[in-house]
Amino acid sequence: MTSGRSLNRYLLFITLAYFTLGFVHIGFALSGLLCMTIPFVLVFRDRKKSWCQGYCPRAQFFDLFRKTGDTAKTPGFLLERKTRDLVLSYFCMNLFFIAASTMMVAAGNMAPIDRVRILIIFEIPFAMPQLLSQPVLPPALLHFSYRIYSMMTTSFLVGTLLALLYRPRTWCRVCPVSTMSDRVLKNVIQTSREA
Ligand code: SF4
Repeated sequence: MTSGRSLNRYLLFITLAYFTLGFVHIGFALSGLLCMTIPFVLVFRDRKKSWCQGYCPRAQFFDLFRKTGDTAKTPGFLLERKTRDLVLSYFCMNLFFIAASTMMVAAGNMAPIDRVRILIIFEIPFAMPQLLSQPVLPPALLHFSYRIYSMMTTSFLVGTLLALLYRPRTWCRVCPVSTMSDRVLKNVIQTSREA
């Protein structure tokens, strides 16, 4: 019988589907918000990082890069707390920019940016083909969708590069979802002990 863990491997197709569907209609990018909320729902429910331990589609994708021989050692700086904090700060700053720019677009003070940008500023040199022209998104939602897709693409590319260079899940060392889950978990456990 196929174990739950081996079934989880198929979750990697969610990662592939996510990035492919962005080329069909950018509105699908909004599903990336699930990857930012479900991990925390599970932390509260299970009192452990169930998402990271079994369900994360991205980690399942990184596992494709398992090597048979020796793997290069993860550089020390990626294991340091300050690197995790730095990546978390970048993530929060990115979310802040996304929220602020979306509000500006909604208020009519800025045109939507309908291009994918890597690391916030580096625009990819082509417009994403959109195989579905409907539904036409309101400007603010269009902008928000592209920004979420950009953020997901950036972390995916960095994670894939790290997986190619080092161990498959090297990205998990600095992943902001993991860092925040650790902190939420610590607080949840602490609160339940004090209760
Ligand atoms: S650390 Fe991030 S990439 Fe790794 S399993 Fe958890 S959520 Fe997924």
